[in-house]
Amino acid sequence: MQAQVRIAEGTGSVQSQGQFRSHAGPQPHPKFYGDNTFQIALNKRADAYFARTGLRRRDCAGMYAKTALLLAATVAAYVALVFFTTSWWVGVPLAVVLGLCMAGIGMNVQHDGSHQAYSSWGWVNKLMSLTLELIGGSSYIWHYQHGVLHHTWVNVAGHDSDIDVGIFGRLSPHQRRRSFHRFQHLYMWPLYGLMAVRWHLFADFYDVIVGKVGGHPIPRPRGWDLVVFVLGKVYFFAVAFVVPMMFHPWWVVLAFYGIVTVVVGVVLSVVFQLAHAVDSAEFVVADEETNRIENAWAIHQAESTVDFARQSKMAAFLLGGLNYQVEHHLFPRICHVHFPALSKEVEATCKEFGVRYNDHGSFWQGVASHYRWLREMGRPEVVPRGVPAAG
Ligand SMILES: [Zn+2]
Repeated sequence: MQAQVRIAEGTGSVQSQGQFRSHAGPQPHPKFYGDNTFQIALNKRADAYFARTGLRRRDCAGMYAKTALLLAATVAAYVALVFFTTSWWVGVPLAVVLGLCMAGIGMNVQHDGSHQAYSSWGWVNKLMSLTLELIGGSSYIWHYQHGVLHHTWVNVAGHDSDIDVGIFGRLSPHQRRRSFHRFQHLYMWPLYGLMAVRWHLFADFYDVIVGKVGGHPIPRPRGWDLVVFVLGKVYFFAVAFVVPMMFHPWWVVLAFYGIVTVVVGVVLSVVFQLAHAVDSAEFVVADEETNRIENAWAIHQAESTVDFARQSKMAAFLLGGLNYQVEHHLFPRICHVHFPALSKEVEATCKEFGVRYNDHGSFWQGVASHYRWLREMGRPEVVPRGVPAAG
């Protein structure tokens, strides 16, 4: 039976997807068609896990404790750096620690909050999603870019904004190749360091002004959303530049802003890229005539996503479940602290249904896979998967 699959487990994308579609631009978003019994079986297994353990899907004590720890560490590193540091050899390690803490907030706190996976109370999720404003981003833009475009159409070129990194990077076989992409496996790593700077100083403002994310129209923020956007940016510019410049020369402030944001950019970019832009993930395009993707949504999510370092307790704690992206994409509204246990259920269900379960054993295997993928996508002879070679 062919059935259009809806978004899993009441993801934050469900409502907004409809809202978003009504604003869709010239390239309509494709729809997934396929048998949804895999998704039904997954949901049953997850239900059974929570019934068996008696654990809550959201509002987990460990998450609140981790949030307090990360926020306290971020404030401590900032205060020490701005108000008490007078030498570069103390300042540089502190700036790296501050960057790591900020990336930790992004991966652990705002990500779950923005997916409504943090709490069953909407206001708690909203509050946690606003921690993105604390590290210089915009929770409003993130919702469309990540929660809607990326999570619904993962690895579908032209629709997943995460694989659209501008002209310098070709992450999908269905994107145009340019001659300089042959070197992208070398130059993309340092460019990842500019991702956070781009958010802070350009991309969020540009997206709001043009009313588009990744070329797709979005509703411009209005009312409280606009107030939060503006106040968030004013707050971040104050703590990143104005306050530090009261105590240090401007060029010192800019240099340390550079260190902190490069750390944030590299950590966030690499961790997110290892989940999809790797040689074991699937990249698909919609049928040109029907604009359909002939696969069930949940199967597409599993096959276009890759886990890494599942055995590492430290990775599970520090990365906010982003090394369990298969589970996150299938259960976006479940708090990430459950992913290590749920991954066994997901792997077993994949096996049962003959769905590929992608897993890189370690972080470095994931890094190597991303390197190989960048190199492959930069080569001129690459023929898109599923597209017959010309001639
Ligand atoms: Zn996500």
